[in-house]
Amino acid sequence: MKETILIVEDEPKLAALLTDYLKASGFDVFTLSDGLHVEAWVRGNKPDLIILDIMLPGRDGMEICRNIRIFSRVPIIMVTARVEEIDRLLGLELGADDYICKPFSPREVVARVKAVLRRTRDGQAVQIEGLVLDANTYRATLHGCDLELTAVEFNLLKLLVENPSRIFSRQQIMEKIYREERFVNDRTIDSHIKKLRRKIETVDPQTTLIHSVYSVGYKFEP
Ligand code: CA
Repeated sequence: MKETILIVEDEPKLAALLTDYLKASGFDVFTLSDGLHVEAWVRGNKPDLIILDIMLPGRDGMEICRNIRIFSRVPIIMVTARVEEIDRLLGLELGADDYICKPFSPREVVARVKAVLRRTRDGQAVQIEGLVLDANTYRATLHGCDLELTAVEFNLLKLLVENPSRIFSRQQIMEKIYREERFVNDRTIDSHIKKLRRKIETVDPQTTLIHSVYSVGYKFEP
């Protein structure tokens, strides 16, 4: 099956040029020319990668990137017209996977698209003891039932599941799952763990996957 690329770009010539090159490389390509309906389109069509211009009519690319990250891990390549801006963008931790500066050669864009897809394809889904964690959609299922996790709960579970039997202190969990938040404390982690356990029990009351380690923290043990 062909992978789908969404190009969000308000310069029609540039969008057409990129479309040609990406199609020639075997991708399905869709384009949007303003920033207003990107999130809805992504929710409805689940593209495999997004090339997102920053300066767009309607809504800017940075805001769109942030909004998409609330519900999806789809790879995003941000396009900026100013090379000086890349530093600032990196500092903002928008959650983009790569940055490209205009003017670019379409060949370079195709190479970056392939590299990002290769990078994100590894480690897509984690499977253990009936649990499946899909990092692209933030969806976790247990025995096929959706656990309906929030993004924070998903990241927390993923951290524990990827390191079976390893004990994490609350401090370590905080550092690993919150990149930007400065106002989380031990109790926040405990409350996320509690909700996570409740959701797991709702699907399978017999299973205890997350264990408390007295006065230390938590671990995942199937
Ligand atoms: Ca633009």
